[in-house]
Amino acid sequence: MAKWVYMFTEGNADMRNLLGGKGANLAEMTNLGLPVPQGFTVTTEACTQYYEDGRQINDEIMAQIMEAIDKMEGITGKKFGDKENPLLVSVRSGARASMPGMMDTILNLGLNEEVVETLAKASGNPRWAWDCYRRFIQMFSDVVMEVGKKYFEELIDKMKEEKGVKLDVELDADDLKKLAEQFKAEYKEKIGEDFPTDPKVQLMEAVKAVFRSWDNPRANVYRRDNDIPYSWGTAVNVQMMAFGNMGDDCGTGVAFTRDPATGENGLFGEFLTNAQGEDVVAGVRTPMHISEMEQKFPEAFTQFKEVCNTLETHYRDMQDMEFTVEHGKLYMLQTRNGKRTAQAALKIACDLVDEGMRTEEEAVAMIDPRNLDTLLHPQFDAAALKAATPMAKALGASPGAACGKVVFTADDAVEWAARGEKVILVRLETSPEDITGMKSAQGILTVRGGMTSHAAVVARGMGTCCVSGCGDITMDEANKKFTLGGKEFHEGDAISLDGSTGAIYDGIIPTVDATIAGEFGRIMGWADKYRTMKVRTNADTPADAKKARELGAEGIGLCRTEHMFFEGNRIDAFREMICAETVEEREAALAKILPEQQGDFEKLYEALEGNPVTIRFLDPPLHEFVPTEEEDIKKLADAQGKTVDQIKAIIDSLHEFNPMMGHRGCRLAVTYPEIAKMQTSAVIRAAINVKKAHPDWNVKPEIMIPLVGDIKELKYVKKFVVETADAEIAAAGSDLEYEVGTMIEIPRAALTADDIAKEADFFCFGTNDLTQMTYGFSRDDAGKFLDAYYDAKIFENDPFAKLDQVGVGKLMKMAIELGKPVNPNLHVGICGEHGGDPSSVEFCDSIGLDYVSCSPFRVPIARLAAAQAAIAKKNA
Ligand code: ADP
Ligand code: MG
Ligand code: MG
Repeated sequence: MAKWVYMFTEGNADMRNLLGGKGANLAEMTNLGLPVPQGFTVTTEACTQYYEDGRQINDEIMAQIMEAIDKMEGITGKKFGDKENPLLVSVRSGARASMPGMMDTILNLGLNEEVVETLAKASGNPRWAWDCYRRFIQMFSDVVMEVGKKYFEELIDKMKEEKGVKLDVELDADDLKKLAEQFKAEYKEKIGEDFPTDPKVQLMEAVKAVFRSWDNPRANVYRRDNDIPYSWGTAVNVQMMAFGNMGDDCGTGVAFTRDPATGENGLFGEFLTNAQGEDVVAGVRTPMHISEMEQKFPEAFTQFKEVCNTLETHYRDMQDMEFTVEHGKLYMLQTRNGKRTAQAALKIACDLVDEGMRTEEEAVAMIDPRNLDTLLHPQFDAAALKAATPMAKALGASPGAACGKVVFTADDAVEWAARGEKVILVRLETSPEDITGMKSAQGILTVRGGMTSHAAVVARGMGTCCVSGCGDITMDEANKKFTLGGKEFHEGDAISLDGSTGAIYDGIIPTVDATIAGEFGRIMGWADKYRTMKVRTNADTPADAKKARELGAEGIGLCRTEHMFFEGNRIDAFREMICAETVEEREAALAKILPEQQGDFEKLYEALEGNPVTIRFLDPPLHEFVPTEEEDIKKLADAQGKTVDQIKAIIDSLHEFNPMMGHRGCRLAVTYPEIAKMQTSAVIRAAINVKKAHPDWNVKPEIMIPLVGDIKELKYVKKFVVETADAEIAAAGSDLEYEVGTMIEIPRAALTADDIAKEADFFCFGTNDLTQMTYGFSRDDAGKFLDAYYDAKIFENDPFAKLDQVGVGKLMKMAIELGKPVNPNLHVGICGEHGGDPSSVEFCDSIGLDYVSCSPFRVPIARLAAAQAAIAKKNA
């Protein structure tokens, strides 16, 4: 019989896949002898089984859960539903990877009308008993029956108004009792049934709800953003309650062993007296700093500090812990490796190496490459920042510089951002429903909530700037306005946020580009030491190339020459070339372009200082460049000595039904060899000149022919490329060497790579085209159906962002295996968008690519991901 349920005493931290992160760590803490309330974990496999069984918990699993409850009753002496000594539990989700706030928790399960009455009397603390009960009904209804939270919150607000109080804690036992009754009435009205009274029924419903929450929309979005597979499932933890809401000698808190924003070593966290569960993070009351806990709860605090040391030493990483104090006694409810900003991640990793807790390789492996992105974003210009006066200061909850226009709802943020606007989302507080809006915003500003509030945690996870808890704001969400510093702000007004200091500014403060220095530089140095794959960049201009070099690029993997034609009045000559009707006309136009291209290439070679540069010959369908405005058409006609109608006819003739699969790539070079010849001359002349100026540089052009599907295409084009190049080299009396290679971006090229390798010095996987050609859908249209594909679980990710390793990856692997034996000197790289995606980089390493090439700002991410792949391979 399969084992579906583990008591905390039966598990350990290595069982994360089976028990989920929370369950595995609760077990580990239990075994370390820390004060953890008793409990058990229903495995992630049980979740998968639940879905396999058509969203049912089968008898075997159910029986094991009941058996575990019996065991808990035995250990604690409390009994489910018992009036004298009832067992109350929490039901908590916990996946393998932590998904903060993404799935749901139910507290105080096991209460019903009878139990709560006796509990109220027996404890002499009726307020507590009724507080537990009303919370339970609220959470159970919300999670299990999906009766919106909002109704209950409205009822609480109404009650507070009637009583003339501001805070939940100011409501007394009678008020809470009345609320519980109102909640149950609400439940009955919405569901049509009485609120369940049997604790065992409550428990099974709750377990099901947690399993079900694995598939809720916000969990699905979170998983997609964080590379968490749907197939993992979530575990469920059932744990005896510890009560932080029994009075002023009780409370609940959240703390980190190091500052999750800066990485500073020292206890960091928040604590709230007479509170339970999410009160600390929900922002209903502003919590106290953890250090104040020392005065109010000296014994529990001392014990907690010891626990922190034990846990950090044990896990050798910064811990994020949740705990509760019940009548002065400490209970640990959770620990995990804390989420942190990129900045903090770098500092903590370096500190742990310096403290002797981690090796360099471990430090490199600890950092999530996707997080680095935030450090590569612009920062406020120091001078402009100094000159500006903040309107207010609140909590710097997630660092970064953000400026944009104010919006008040998550939906507005999405909508405005889709229009290309930069927005700052301003909210009273955020909730998990706001997640897509938060993603669309440059920055998030909340009126309520501390450093561990939902907004803060999620923003740090996303690397989005966030300032939280700005109590100075008078908010009017309904009318989309707020007042701050005596000024009224409306939708569309510009503000700036400093997520490090928490300062809020009126208007836009200019930003500057980021650099790699300090701890960032140290980690990147280690990454370079351990990686075996090279990292190049996709750059079309000397400025991009220079930026990429600063960020550590070791060459250009893709220079798209067509992007050079847009600048200044070059487009004129280019259009003349496109609209030429004879070879002579075309050559005349090309002659104007040649020196421009040569100049561009010279600057690129200069910027690369002898590192390799791959130049791709003209690729896109020509109609993309023709004029559409009457005025531009006239200008072209005049330059060509043609009539407007003649030009229009030529433009019409360029029309294609499916340009993506039309007259483009090497097909252009086959029909117009003079274009490829001109580009060859430009490349070779530029290289000769730069080599002359810098004899110590290794200038060796790599000419890349795009969109080859047949060896004969490559042979045909290569022939006149080589003729032209050799003639240029001979004429200059140079000894320049060069390579001619091809993109592998048509499935047929991958399938016949053994042939193609005979003619190619290198392969570069153009995985954007290879993905669209392999799947047979264009990336410009995929947006129309991807959401439906996500909903139907056909796709978990966008294959244009994350490489389809199964299909496209198989073609790549095949191409390498076919190509390398034929041409042992063949070098192989990738230059699609995937070259900067960490999991795709890992795959590239595993199939033996020599380099990945990505956009300049992703170069550090690729360097780190390549190092992690090499380290993982070594340790495997
Ligand atoms: P999340 O994964 O969203 O953090 P948790 O399962 O950790 O959800 O539950 C949220 C909060 O509920 C915890 O931080 C803790 O304060 C409270 N909680 C959960 N279980 C218990 C328990 N057995 N006793 C007291 N409080 C609990
Ligand atoms: Mg939660
Ligand atoms: Mg938690």
